[in-house]
Amino acid sequence: MIDACFLGPYAQNDTLLEKLVVEFLRDHVYWRRNFHPEDPLAIGTSAAYHPDYLAFEARMRRELHLLSAQLKKSVPFHSPRYIGHMASDLLLPGLAAQILTLPYNPNNVTEDTAPVTVELEVKVGLQLARMLGYVDDPARPDCAFGHLTSGGTVANYQALRLALAQKAFPVALRAAGVPELALPEDDHAAFNLHPQHATALLEQWQHWLAQAAPAERRQWQARVQAARIEQLGLVAFFAAHPALKVPKVLAPITAHYSWSKGCKLLGLGRNQLELLPERGMRIDVDALEATLERCQRERQPVLLAVAVLGTTEYGTVDPVDAVVDARQRFAERGLGFAVHVDAAWGGYLATLFRNEDGSLRARADVARGFRAFPSAGVHAAVAAIAQTDSVTVDPHKLGYLPYGSGAFICRDHRVMALLPEAADYVFHGDTAQDYMTRYRSLGQYIPEGSKSGAAVAAVYVTHQVLPLDHAHFGLLPAQTIRAAEAFDARARHFASEVAGVAQALVPFSPDSNLVCLALNPAGNRSVAAANAFVRRLHDELRIDPHQPVQNKQFFGSVTTLRPEALGEADTRRILDALGLDMATLDEDGAGKLLILRHTLMNPYLLDEDNGVSYIDLYFDHLASRVRTLLAAGN
Ligand SMILES: *Cc1c(COP(=O)(O)O)cnc(C)c1O
Repeated sequence: MIDACFLGPYAQNDTLLEKLVVEFLRDHVYWRRNFHPEDPLAIGTSAAYHPDYLAFEARMRRELHLLSAQLKKSVPFHSPRYIGHMASDLLLPGLAAQILTLPYNPNNVTEDTAPVTVELEVKVGLQLARMLGYVDDPARPDCAFGHLTSGGTVANYQALRLALAQKAFPVALRAAGVPELALPEDDHAAFNLHPQHATALLEQWQHWLAQAAPAERRQWQARVQAARIEQLGLVAFFAAHPALKVPKVLAPITAHYSWSKGCKLLGLGRNQLELLPERGMRIDVDALEATLERCQRERQPVLLAVAVLGTTEYGTVDPVDAVVDARQRFAERGLGFAVHVDAAWGGYLATLFRNEDGSLRARADVARGFRAFPSAGVHAAVAAIAQTDSVTVDPHKLGYLPYGSGAFICRDHRVMALLPEAADYVFHGDTAQDYMTRYRSLGQYIPEGSKSGAAVAAVYVTHQVLPLDHAHFGLLPAQTIRAAEAFDARARHFASEVAGVAQALVPFSPDSNLVCLALNPAGNRSVAAANAFVRRLHDELRIDPHQPVQNKQFFGSVTTLRPEALGEADTRRILDALGLDMATLDEDGAGKLLILRHTLMNPYLLDEDNGVSYIDLYFDHLASRVRTLLAAGN
């Protein structure tokens, strides 16, 4: 099946793609021709012979040729020789759907400009919700809601914005003095509800409003609106509620830098982002517990706790289950907060854990065909997503789709009523809208304005062709896990091959499909010297705009190991194994060890039909480069 999914490393499926593109381009042409064919021809049949026309065409051709020629320097993401960043070949259904949709140019800000693709976007939200274990039946009041964004960064902004709206709304209800609601006793309690209780309160308020007389309703709406954080801004809101502190965002040290950007953008300030210590590249549960204890003691509210499912640097998976569990316990003690899963990278791994009926697969079933995947921790983390409040997933990463498509999904759509510009959080007495109708005014809810309906079509069609369960889409991430396991095993073999000249080590077992490799020239004790060596290796493994890409054998990337993310014990273990002196870690002022990082998402890394493993070829190449560089250095 995978054979038909992509254009392929050698563009083997060129005729298939060409057939699709031509067929649907013609289809688009006929659609134009059949729209009021009685209209006069705006472009006459002799226009193409006019010198100006020809000159324009020549200029256009010239520029397109120049562009096409320049693009030959692009990164060959499609090749199994590319194991650098989080990009690979593009799924044909998505690519074809996007090309097909482009000339229609739908703008997914509203159904007025995208009557078809806005509905598809809401459906994509439901497809992803199902993959994550959220309720995906719009007939249920607690159905999830999701939408696309330009990428994971903006989806993370949306998580922050929604969590803040939800956290502050009960405070506004109290400030407005809305009668007959079961409001929390003080501001502190109102600001620290469990998100589910905040949603319940929002619902109560909407019902109460619906029963009020129209004049009274408008008056109360205005009073609550005037007390909301979105109306007042952070400064006035916190000035009006001196008992409240600005809430913190808790995220692991290895969290993506979009969380820092988001805290700045929201006006919370970078100081409000508290980075949790990690152990073995995953949230340290004890440290989380201690942080929450401290927050409770200091009456320090928490806006959001972020767990990462597939860290950008290492593909590691945070214990989502432990974060959810801690939230439950602390919410009962008056420190409620939202839990967000940043699954920008790892989101589609969840397909491996889903049966076709949407139920969760047992760990033993998922494990069939793999050496070690999934660890008990990874299985528990994926299972716990259902209890989180929102998730970020990037279709343009492990969804193998073109940029830019990220996605934001929240567990219970009712909270979205807090976001619209047109104060939709108040009940629309006259138009009791159903789910699909309400979200057709997508622009009210999303951070962006105008956005590509063609990108949405790509995601929707892909999910229809490859449903998000283990038997369909799951075949793709399964291939990446097999490749990562083969890579991990081969790396250990590589370490023994080069033992005389260098120490090599997979620093920690991968949770998913990213595998790192630490290297140190034999006899060297200095971290700075080891870093310089790895940097030289990486210089050969990265794109060089001054050289044809064909000169490169392989592409890899680098990242660093930091004691804050590894923990003291693991740092010592890794440096010892490499023969490095712990005391030199801070020598170059960096305090971190540079390592090679490999993203094993290309579906053709293990070419079993031809008996070729690009993983073997890579390690042969790496061994030869290590020897050559070290020989030259001596
Ligand atoms: C890639 C990534 C992001 C950012 O997503 P973009 O699509 O690049 O904006 C956020 N979080 C994680 C974990 C990621 O891997």
